[in-house]
Amino acid sequence: MLDVAIVGGGPGGLALARALQVKAPALRVQVFERASGLHKRGAGVAIAPNGTAALRAIDPPLADKILATSLERNLVVVEDAQGREMSRQLMTFGALGKAPGQAMDGLIPWHAMQRLLAESLGEGAVAYRKAFAGLDLAPAGGGAVVRFADGSSAAARLVVGADGLLSQVREAWLGDGGPTFDNRVIFRGQARSADVAALAAWAAGVGGGEGGGVPDSRICPTGQDLMAMVYMLSEGVTVWAVNAGYGVVKDCGVDYAPYARSGETRASLMEPEAAGAACFEEALKLADKLPATVLRVADPSTTTIHGDYVRYPKDYPDTALGAGPVTLVGDAFHPLKVAGQGANLAFEDAAVLAHHLAAAGPTEAALRAYEAERLPRLRTLAEFNITTMNSAAKAAGQDYQELKRRQAEFEEAVVHAFPPPGSAPRAAPVSC
Ligand SMILES: Cc1cc2nc3c(=O)[nH]c(=O)nc-3n(C[C@H](O)[C@H](O)[C@H](O)COP(=O)(O)OP(=O)(O)OC[C@H]3O[C@@H](n4cnc5c(N)ncnc54)[C@H](O)[C@@H]3O)c2cc1C
Repeated sequence: MLDVAIVGGGPGGLALARALQVKAPALRVQVFERASGLHKRGAGVAIAPNGTAALRAIDPPLADKILATSLERNLVVVEDAQGREMSRQLMTFGALGKAPGQAMDGLIPWHAMQRLLAESLGEGAVAYRKAFAGLDLAPAGGGAVVRFADGSSAAARLVVGADGLLSQVREAWLGDGGPTFDNRVIFRGQARSADVAALAAWAAGVGGGEGGGVPDSRICPTGQDLMAMVYMLSEGVTVWAVNAGYGVVKDCGVDYAPYARSGETRASLMEPEAAGAACFEEALKLADKLPATVLRVADPSTTTIHGDYVRYPKDYPDTALGAGPVTLVGDAFHPLKVAGQGANLAFEDAAVLAHHLAAAGPTEAALRAYEAERLPRLRTLAEFNITTMNSAAKAAGQDYQELKRRQAEFEEAVVHAFPPPGSAPRAAPVSC
């Protein structure tokens, strides 16, 4: 029998497995992941100080390795819908140090982060092609049996759902309904490497010349409720993304059903199996609204479509998610509106949960102690995230400085307020 079965091999599940190896090496832990293996994904992940602190609490050398994959610099230019430059920020990382006012510690390629986390675990720690299919709870204290789609099963004293925002573990355990679709649909992927120069030239369309410097990232609203962005992930890897309102997407005839779970892949954030030319065909339905260069250089095989989902803070319980040998980490627990924090908070979860399992052993009491510690911070952050992002959306295009001020408030509330496990808890600096 396993001590801990972790369902899902994203940042939350892998970081938890590593944290347990380091903090509670006697525990028998296995990660079960639905995907067939590690694949390249078209996204960058911003690591903020709370994420850095959590990774350092888990495994300091691994934290350093992950941050070392960051770009050294990135010039981000934001336009308004008329093509006027609204902001320009040079971010610097690693040996260059942080630029003034910059919250982020690193901007790293998603696939590098996942590969380093998985490699740190060693051979066999992640079982791939294991899609969660159900859970049978034993009487109190007796653990659970996890069933998989291939007919196999695993018995464990504890089960952790790290299976993302449409968590099936959560559904099987709590049955409290899925998250709410936030009316945004995102298409993204990588550029074909041969055409990166063309993309860079498009990105340079703003900002070259006066003021100096070609932007490495360009964010531009391309029409009503639609935003395109292109950014460098690492040398030679450039990615694109389009973030569109659901109304626009529907009007263009795109096939996106927010709550579809067919094949259990559609809505998963990062699943490579969900990527492909069929997704790009859907993106092409928006073609007359998108920059031609983005469409021309996109690599169709890497294109994905996913929605934004959120759980509202009013639905967060006070002290415990539920009862029994199951808990949740990452997006399965607390999906937020897009704020560059999901992976960072998943690392926090992993560090705190491992701390309690190391202290109290693989017991239901340890799970409840973890939930009791996390819930107040997560509820406060979710409140702040929703009010900030809602007012930011309203402010966009009207008062960009106001938008930036609110984002800075959110960063301040999130990034400077993670007490690493075992340290004295600090007072939350936010009042909502
Ligand atoms: C484009 C983009 C950019 C982002 N940028 C940032 C950023 O800059 N900073 C940041 O902090 N966050 C960012 N996020 C958010 C971040 O990606 C998520 O919050 C984070 O991935 C959540 O991690 P997780 O491990 O909880 O879930 P996931 O990353 O969703 O991982 C869940 C894993 O579970 C697996 N799984 C799902 N169902 C099953 C099943 N039935 N059985 C077995 N396995 C299953 C999936 O295949 C997946 O590997 C970004 C997200 C996107 C989409």
